[in-house]
Amino acid sequence: MNASPIARDGRDAAPDAVSPAPAQTVQPSCPTDVAERPVKQAVKRGWRRRCPNCGAGPLLRGYLTVRRDCPVCDEPLHHHRADDGPAYLTILIVGHIMAPLILWAFVKFRPDPVTLATAFTIGCVALSLYLLPRLKGVIVGIQWAKRMHGFAQAPEHATVHAAEHAPVLARPVSS
Ligand SMILES: [Zn+2]
Repeated sequence: MNASPIARDGRDAAPDAVSPAPAQTVQPSCPTDVAERPVKQAVKRGWRRRCPNCGAGPLLRGYLTVRRDCPVCDEPLHHHRADDGPAYLTILIVGHIMAPLILWAFVKFRPDPVTLATAFTIGCVALSLYLLPRLKGVIVGIQWAKRMHGFAQAPEHATVHAAEHAPVLARPVSS
């Protein structure tokens, strides 16, 4: 038979009843403390492949590479973690547009299969190339507006130099 937990607790708690230590109030850099960033505006600027902060500087270098900083307002842009998001959204949108369209075109016009395949291949590639950098801008804009990843302007993590962890060399033996 087990002893009643209440009785055991009561017997144990009485002699050494220690009030719990007050919770320490730590003030981390909380994203909710800072001003909100307009998501809609950042999305629109991202779609235009512009910096989500100023709307003037180019977001991308080349076709798809996000710049490290905005050349106009110096806003750091390298914090983004778009990863596969733009490609996923591009496939999602292109697929949902082209799949019904190819069925409609086949039923309506009954084209030669080579013609149909050629037309839709060009259409899919062109639409994907159009959407991909714009959707990347949209995702970077959302991440910037929501202060995701490093966009909360938290202090950069201190770089731990390898020298600090260098192994201690054996002292030379003095004779
Ligand atoms: Zn900018």
